[in-house]
Amino acid sequence: MDLYEHQARELFAAHGISVPRAEVTGSPEQAREIARRLGGCVVVKAQVKTGGRGKAGGVEFAADPARAELTARRILGMDIKGHTAATVMLAEPVDIESEFYVSYVLDRAAGGFLAIASAEGGMEIEEIAARRPEAVARIHIDPAEGVTSAKAARIADAAGLPPQTVDVLVRLWQVLVREDALLVEVNPLVRTTRGAIVALDGKVTLDDNARYRQTRWGAEGDGRDDPLEAAAAAKGLNYVKLDGTVGVIGNGAGLVMSTLDVVAGCGARPANFLDIGGGASAQVMADGLTVVLSDPDVRSVFVNIFGGITACDAVAEGIVRALDTVRVAKPLVVRLDGNNAARGRAVLDERAHPLVQQVTTMDGAARRAAELATTV
Ligand code: GDP
Ligand code: MN
Repeated sequence: MDLYEHQARELFAAHGISVPRAEVTGSPEQAREIARRLGGCVVVKAQVKTGGRGKAGGVEFAADPARAELTARRILGMDIKGHTAATVMLAEPVDIESEFYVSYVLDRAAGGFLAIASAEGGMEIEEIAARRPEAVARIHIDPAEGVTSAKAARIADAAGLPPQTVDVLVRLWQVLVREDALLVEVNPLVRTTRGAIVALDGKVTLDDNARYRQTRWGAEGDGRDDPLEAAAAAKGLNYVKLDGTVGVIGNGAGLVMSTLDVVAGCGARPANFLDIGGGASAQVMADGLTVVLSDPDVRSVFVNIFGGITACDAVAEGIVRALDTVRVAKPLVVRLDGNNAARGRAVLDERAHPLVQQVTTMDGAARRAAELATTV
């Protein structure tokens, strides 16, 4: 899960990193009050989980509380790269002398973490790396050793950051470890005209697998970034949203993965991964189908079951239950094989829903689902 800037700011502050005084609101009137409390002049910043807000007009100075209200009114509801700004953060402005970039990110291939740092912060790192690759330092971090002061000094030195940033680099590593983050990024980390090192903007991605022991985010922390993934997680389903149009449901992660490949091999793109697991009950199937059918991108659904522990008739009962409870307006292609396949097929034949068709082979069913997704 990605955090909002104001949440990242809170984490940085909790770990002793300097951040500007700031408050969050969804109301322009309150923005005026907050600006007054912060001393009048503020930076108004859209809270959206995407970068480049500055360029998109989502970060703006307001000279006094009245203007802060007007600016907040303009930014609230604004769309930035498909994300709507429901709140703004008002921050005390900082006089910048220099802007730096620092981040730690999980490096799966290297089996460790990567420190990325540059003395040329402010713009997005991809842009810095494209313009002046030699200005970006990349240093491997052994997770067992972490970022000690000595390591931080090497990172600062490699990137050309001033020595005062060493303390922040160590603390930022503490944020990553203690908060179970996969990414922490500060851009810009600034040196103010008074010589202080301040984190002006932050991005933190938390590891969803550690959600159970990170209670800080409460109810909000339970929500996935994608609403369908959140709905599926609430039902205990193993669901991942993808960007295609063929909904895919199967039993067993391996079968579902190969189903995604077969669908792609037929020239279509899977809309999701959904594993209903071994020994799935009718209820799990009904829940799964409900989630997949509620995805507006889905144009056809391929239910691919190879019954081992899972009994095909239980799956068929689940499909029938879903057909009876949700309005099904999209074609379903069902392939049932293995344990109790004949009984399962009979259950579906008996229900005889006009949008449900059965195909006995995996390849044939994938082809049919792909056709339906491209022709309806
Ligand atoms: P982003 O565009 O989404 O990365 O948003 P940022 O929070 O990084 O803001 C964009 C840019 O606005 C920063 O790189 C700074 O140059 C500028 N900015 C943000 N806050 C302040 C501030 O308090 N003082 C000054 N002088 N500039 C700021
Ligand atoms: Mn930024």
